[in-house]
Amino acid sequence: MIALHDIKSPKPEDFPSELEGLRMTKQRREILSVILSKRDHPTANDVFLRAQKRMPTISLATVYNCLEALVSHGIVRQVNFERESSRYCPNLNDHCHFQDESTGQIHDVTFKKGVNLADFLELPQGTEISHLEISLKGRIGSS
Ligand SMILES: [Zn+2]
Repeated sequence: MIALHDIKSPKPEDFPSELEGLRMTKQRREILSVILSKRDHPTANDVFLRAQKRMPTISLATVYNCLEALVSHGIVRQVNFERESSRYCPNLNDHCHFQDESTGQIHDVTFKKGVNLADFLELPQGTEISHLEISLKGRIGSS
């Protein structure tokens, strides 16, 4: 697939008419562009408020429907932190999420080069990982 996360300034009209088998309607394009434009792991409500700037008539229900379609087709990732609202992330590379408890900000965290999950997890022999979801919380040191 095309590496969406590499697109620097995504315009809704730049997306193909179909992505991962999903027909890219006007609303879906708009939602995807919102998520790609500011990668701060917005909630559905954040996405709604941002999408409204260009599409004043869009409803929250439509935003939820678009997000669900984009997630189920593997175009964006849904990130959950405990009981908080789901957040959305366009980075499809293997990565973890770290939430800074002092600001609430969520950062993408990648594995160090060459590190394999099997190196530090006791996985049953022959395990093949198909989905990765690791969420960390803490504070970033001042040094
Ligand atoms: Zn992420």
